[in-house]
Amino acid sequence: DPFLLGEQEVRVATSIGIATTALGNTRAASLVRDADAAMYRAKARGRACTEVFDARLRAEVLARLRLENDLRQAVESDALEVRYQPQVDFGSGLVVGVEALVRWPHPEHGLLLPAAFVSLADETGLAADLGRLVLRRGCAEAAHWLARWPHRRLPVGVNVSARQLADARFVDDVAHALAAAHLPADRLCLEVTQPAMLADEQASAATLERLHALGVRTALDDFGVGYSSLSHLKQLRLHALKVDRAFVHGLPAEPRDLAIVASVVALGAALGLEVVAEGVETSMQADLLRGLGCRVGQGHLWSGPVPADELAGLLDGAPWGAGTVDLTGTTAGERCG
Ligand code: C2E
Ligand code: CA
Ligand code: CA
Repeated sequence: DPFLLGEQEVRVATSIGIATTALGNTRAASLVRDADAAMYRAKARGRACTEVFDARLRAEVLARLRLENDLRQAVESDALEVRYQPQVDFGSGLVVGVEALVRWPHPEHGLLLPAAFVSLADETGLAADLGRLVLRRGCAEAAHWLARWPHRRLPVGVNVSARQLADARFVDDVAHALAAAHLPADRLCLEVTQPAMLADEQASAATLERLHALGVRTALDDFGVGYSSLSHLKQLRLHALKVDRAFVHGLPAEPRDLAIVASVVALGAALGLEVVAEGVETSMQADLLRGLGCRVGQGHLWSGPVPADELAGLLDGAPWGAGTVDLTGTTAGERCG
């Protein structure tokens, strides 16, 4: 029953995990561990329910444990890869930025995308190590581009996880990566999402403020999906807004997507932010976005995420639309496990 805590009515619900000896498990400690795993599953299912530890859950737990160990090893031995996806100016066809995207070449599962392991890193205390790896590589590449094309503005975008944002040591990691690569701070753009900030809003705001003082650029990623609050646009000192590809995907056919994208582009422009459209796949989408006043796009129309040497080739090539590159864009694809 609900009860009163001071003035506040409080309801307590329970998530219950159950483990029995049916799977042959008779050690108290392992039974408690299994019940614990079942309880987490009950919470993941929406809480206030019960879950029994069964053979399927055991297989899942084991697979996860194995993946966690593999990931720890991969991070420690620097075995993760970073791919780079160009961001293209609709007007000039030139690459004006690059996003670093992590990949894990797994010996059994093939090339794993971040969806398969980034949240695992966050949950198992590997976020800082993984983040440092991507920061270090990204900054080193951006320093190469700066040395090779000193007159081009080519900031590298690096994604930041919830765990990193809430970690007071993250700013030191960023400063260290910049210093090690001799990269000017404004050549790094950290991409943060609003759900990531929500995990610890105060700590995140403090982190962003310190990054700003460092001179690092910041972009609000995946804008418009999940938890999105306009108050962040008001409070935080941001440089760019990335329109989520969920809206770009519906262009040009979906009038609602069109209305949303048009409004976000106008909002970003009014706030003095650079607006980057994500997931641009067709030249029709690019034309439409350009017509709406969006200046920069990222997507398979130009290129998917590619290894650093391939990206250098793209930077060396003629601007897109200059007649040397097929604008209808056969997708530069990745084969992933
Ligand atoms: P994101 O930051 O929104 O990154 C863009 C994602 O969209 C990438 O997926 C990219 O491959 C994909 N993409 C780019 N162009 C297109 C397109 O035209 N069409 C479609 N359908 N997709 C496109 P990816 O590499 O699988 O990364 C997924 C997410 O994982 C990223 O979303 C980001 O949130 C996270 N992530 C990636 N690298 C890192 C990292 O180093 N650290 C952390 N914390 N998160 C990362
Ligand atoms: Ca991103
Ligand atoms: Ca995004």
